[in-house]
Amino acid sequence: MDSLLFPGGEFLGIKWHIWKAVGWLGNAVFFSRFVVQWYATEKRKQVVVPSAFWWLSLTGSLLLLAYALFYQKDSVFIFAYAFTWIPYIRNLVIHRRHKHAHILCPDCGLNCPPQSNYCLNCGTPLKAVNDGRSETAHAG
Ligand SMILES: [Zn+2]
Repeated sequence: MDSLLFPGGEFLGIKWHIWKAVGWLGNAVFFSRFVVQWYATEKRKQVVVPSAFWWLSLTGSLLLLAYALFYQKDSVFIFAYAFTWIPYIRNLVIHRRHKHAHILCPDCGLNCPPQSNYCLNCGTPLKAVNDGRSETAHAG
């Protein structure tokens, strides 16, 4: 059975060991981000980059960096993944800040986009309407 599934100790023409598994897992995770981004874009009918895209990018690139550092030991390959985590983490931080900046409508519970003055669903004034700036505008 082993010789049928793994002829010459190989599977799919690959001699498997732990770093090959890490490298191929990195490839699979990195590739899956395209599927996630494409799906999100088709669903919204506009270009969307969900935070899952950045998580998959980060995970996939770190796995590939580990593979490059500890197995491949090739400077070109290492350099290709050495700094990609920086924009991925920055985009995740921006995604998180934007999500937390949304304003919850006290009446209907809809999470309205940042800096909304009124709820998109029920029209209830949100906190931005009653902030210091609007008071100053009326006083002047
Ligand atoms: Zn509302």
